[in-house]
Amino acid sequence: MFYEDETTADALQADHEAKLDADVQQAEREAAARRSQAHEDAGYCAHLSAVGYLPTPVYEEQRGVRPGQLRRTGGCGTVFASDEAWYAALNEAELNPVKRTGRPGTTPIRQADNAEPGGNA
Ligand SMILES: [Zn+2]
Repeated sequence: MFYEDETTADALQADHEAKLDADVQQAEREAAARRSQAHEDAGYCAHLSAVGYLPTPVYEEQRGVRPGQLRRTGGCGTVFASDEAWYAALNEAELNPVKRTGRPGTTPIRQADNAEPGGNA
C-alpha cells in the first residue's frame, strides 16, 4: 500500500539522518583537531606540514632532503622517507610523540638576486 505522504516523510527522514551524519563527522573532526592542538600545546609535534625535495631548495628545511623524502616544518625536523611514511606519522602523532626542538615554519633561502620565494609551507 502506498500513502501519499510516505515519500515526503521518507525524504524528510533521510534528510534528517544525513544532517545527523554530517554533525557526527563534524564533531569527530573537531575532536581530532582538539587532540592535535593539545599534543602541540604539550610540546610535541603533530607533523601537520612538511616540505619535499626540490633540485634547488627554496627553504632551509629542504636542504639535504632527497627525492621522495619530506621534512617536517613544525619544529621537529623529522625527515620522512615517503608521503606514506609522513601520513602514517601524521595519523599516529599522539601514539609516537616527538618533541618539538625548533621553531615552526619555513626559512626562505636568500636567492642571489634577492628574490623572495613565494608561498609558505
Ligand atoms: Zn613533526
